[in-house]
Amino acid sequence: MLFDFRLSTPAEGMVDITNEVSAAVRESGVLEGLCIVYCPHTTAAITINENADPDVQNDFIMGMAQSFPELNAFRHSEGNSDAHIKSSTIGASETIIISGGKLLLGTWQDIYFCEFDGPRTRKFYVKIIGG
Ligand code: ZN
Repeated sequence: MLFDFRLSTPAEGMVDITNEVSAAVRESGVLEGLCIVYCPHTTAAITINENADPDVQNDFIMGMAQSFPELNAFRHSEGNSDAHIKSSTIGASETIIISGGKLLLGTWQDIYFCEFDGPRTRKFYVKIIGG
């Protein structure tokens, strides 16, 4: 079963999409299986990280900016090569186990849509596999 979602993103940041993904799992009725969360964009990404302290998300975005700065030497005329690099580094998808009809996430884990070149209206897909 395939679900698609739209979201509005900030200029740069992590948007918690765990509630949307959990709702898709419930609606699918799948008790044991796999959930794939996929981002169809080249300057955004999907990741799983800590949900307790919002400073983790701020530090994540700051760390990515310091690790992958936009360089004058880049040739891509759109001027967002740093965002393309961040997107591929974090990755376009995550796979989460479904057990007992729920996402098998750790206590401190949530699923995040990472925006590296916003603000924009973005999409993501949730594919549920199992019975
Ligand atoms: Zn570009």
